[in-house]
Amino acid sequence: MSSALVLGAGGFIGGHLVSALKKEGKWVRGVDIKKHEYKDSDADDFVVGDLRDPQFTRSIIDQKFDEVYQLAADMGGAGYIFTGENDADVMHNSATINLNVLDAAVRRCVTRVFYSSSACIYPAHNQENPDSPICKESSAYPAAPDSEYGWEKLFSERLFMSYRRNYGIETRIARYHNIFGPNGTWKGGKEKAPAAICRKVALAPEGGEIEIWGDGKQTRSFLYVDECIEGTLRLMRSDYHLPVNIGSEEMVSINRLAELACEVAGKSLSVRHIDGPTGVRGRNSDNELARKVLNWEPSQSLKLGIELTYNWIELQTRRNKA
Ligand code: NAD
Repeated sequence: MSSALVLGAGGFIGGHLVSALKKEGKWVRGVDIKKHEYKDSDADDFVVGDLRDPQFTRSIIDQKFDEVYQLAADMGGAGYIFTGENDADVMHNSATINLNVLDAAVRRCVTRVFYSSSACIYPAHNQENPDSPICKESSAYPAAPDSEYGWEKLFSERLFMSYRRNYGIETRIARYHNIFGPNGTWKGGKEKAPAAICRKVALAPEGGEIEIWGDGKQTRSFLYVDECIEGTLRLMRSDYHLPVNIGSEEMVSINRLAELACEVAGKSLSVRHIDGPTGVRGRNSDNELARKVLNWEPSQSLKLGIELTYNWIELQTRRNKA
């Protein structure tokens, strides 16, 4: 039976990835510093521990896994990564995890490792126009990300690529663009825009008001998690070793995202714009390379994804009150 290791398995994307790999019939070990908050993991073996610890990292990479997926990172939405307050931790924690994982993978002769990078690596100056941001893979350099989170991702992309060059590990790198869906962080300060907006809409009384950071005219695209998993598996098993965008090209403003959530909820709410961290003015995935090298692009509408996510978050808010 083939085996897979998912690091960050207690998190949002990692949790969904474990389930997908189990459905394929693999033996799966999941590792995270915490258990999954919203469901029991489908992993055959789930180990709780800190991947910043090199001894621990070696102990869980104790065999030549067929596939290793490295998703563990100190991560959060704009409220966590764009305020500057968590920069040292974000850089230190995530870089240490990546250094430990690659070192341990070489020792166990692992041949294939996936790394989850981010659209946050793209230069801020290419994303000032909300209508036509540039996020082609080839536009990453000269580098100028707008956050330390983005700089760490860029460093780690290069780390993974250098392990391929010097140690012969096949590394695959995805640049995820705003992944959303059920079973992810929806409150507490680390949640991202779709979850935060769905929560605010779910909690607002009919005719009430929700708050949005900035003027809401900043644009983004959002990829539903099932499609992210499909893109991830396709990339992992492809022969393409340079970074690839895994995202949607359906770009909307944050105001439109809020409207969609209201439509799905059947509520009429007004929006109050307040100061808050917003990141770049515009960002959209460019899927030309994914179409070419993976023969794939996502097809599900944003509205359907918001419907599935809203329903899950609305249920969580009711459970929270109970
Ligand atoms: P997440 O925060 O839900 O998952 C990350 C997991 O890593 C968490 O469960 C966390 O506990 C774990 N982790 C953190 N520090 C650890 C440590 N020291 N030891 C062991 N585990 C540790 O985030 P996610 O949305 O599932 O993201 C997964 C990956 O994809 C991350 O690397 C993230 O940077 C990347 N990414 C996500 C998005 C997105 O929109 N969700 C976009 C771009 C990139």
